[in-house]
Amino acid sequence: MSGWIAIAGLGPGDEALVTPEVGAALAAATDVVGYIPYVARVAPRAGLTLHPSDNRVEMDRAALALDLAGAGHRVVVVSSGDPGVFAMAAAVFEAIESGPARWATLDVRVLPGITAMLAAAARAGAPLGHDFCAINLSDNLKPQPIIERRVRLAAEADFAIAFYNPRSRARPDGLAAALAILRDTCADRRPVLFARAVSTPDERLRVVPLPDARADMADMRTIVIVGSSRTRTIPGTRFLYTPRSAA
Ligand code: SAH
Repeated sequence: MSGWIAIAGLGPGDEALVTPEVGAALAAATDVVGYIPYVARVAPRAGLTLHPSDNRVEMDRAALALDLAGAGHRVVVVSSGDPGVFAMAAAVFEAIESGPARWATLDVRVLPGITAMLAAAARAGAPLGHDFCAINLSDNLKPQPIIERRVRLAAEADFAIAFYNPRSRARPDGLAAALAILRDTCADRRPVLFARAVSTPDERLRVVPLPDARADMADMRTIVIVGSSRTRTIPGTRFLYTPRSAA
């Protein structure tokens, strides 16, 4: 039987948010490869080998998955949320581009999942209802001046901004720097959403005005969504939203 590799998103945490397509790939798999806590979300069963690995070994993980698929295994590489958002799909394609030619002919599919910013936005209302962008505050391969420039330009362009990895070990002060830039650039009281562990039993949502937002309100399980100049809460409700018109 010929092998394949599916790079799949497990969603933000809740089983109900795993797509049926991803469930079917896991049911057909012989091997699951990924970061330890994500592999732990896959139920063990006879005939399925789990290959959990530590953080920051994405290229080794991609090579293992590609070699297994080349040997005829049915491999699911798991990420949380969506695999194309700051996750394993790009790592697998980087490996294919620079690796042995036999990897380029493998049967590779990317199976989308619900990314953290969409799960968090849905819980809060519709803060991403108009133009927005996403910025990863931890990417080791991205120098701090590039991050600061992107944050400033995103604020000047009046995007709502979703910050992934706001308090990573790689860059613990990244969020404090980003918030300082936003306070300088925006100088208003737009809402900031701190959404922690969305769709898990540990979920916690908090909305504060930009001048009151502090980096210690976020940890590694938090996504931070900073509104645009138009984002507001509806008084008397818990809803946060951005109207669809620019002004
Ligand atoms: N591929 C993932 C993102 C991986 S980066 C996705 O599409 O969601 C890891 C970061 O995602 C975390 O630091 C946090 O900012 C965010 N994140 C992942 N799951 C989350 C959840 N359930 N609730 C809040 N933020 C989450």
